[in-house]
Amino acid sequence: MAGPMHCYRHPKRETRVSCATCGRPICTECMRPTDVGIKCPEDARLPRGARAGTMKPNQILWSFLAGLAVALVGIPVVYVILTLPFQWLISAAAGYGAGTLVNRAGGRNGGTLAISISVVATAIPFLVRLAPPVLAGGNVSPISIAAMIFAAVAAGLANRQL
Ligand SMILES: [Zn+2]
Ligand SMILES: [Zn+2]
Repeated sequence: MAGPMHCYRHPKRETRVSCATCGRPICTECMRPTDVGIKCPEDARLPRGARAGTMKPNQILWSFLAGLAVALVGIPVVYVILTLPFQWLISAAAGYGAGTLVNRAGGRNGGTLAISISVVATAIPFLVRLAPPVLAGGNVSPISIAAMIFAAVAAGLANRQL
């Protein structure tokens, strides 16, 4: 069994806690509780920018929920859009809106996961609309397929970190 460690900032104080990031032992006075465990004051103070692209578990959950909402709400929307003129343009705008929603739900981190969720969630309603005729051996308008691609790309672009 390992003996007690000593706080790296107060060498005389014994502790059994160490920083989740750097592993240095820290005493109760020095420990800082964070979302990802107890940290030393230096690591707890790291700027948000240093963690860009990583989402907290609840942000990941919200991203998935937003993606699910986009996919469900998107189905009737896509049915309407694909009957309109300039459907590719409207699809791109709708996809951008959907991507923005997922991005905000995920704490605006714009990570790979947020981009993936946005793209997939945006493409699902189009697949629901376009897959049955294809499976039935029918033809799908190339414009409709272009609309799906525009929407998915726009959803991904909405997650770019500016
Ligand atoms: Zn540390
Ligand atoms: Zn200390």
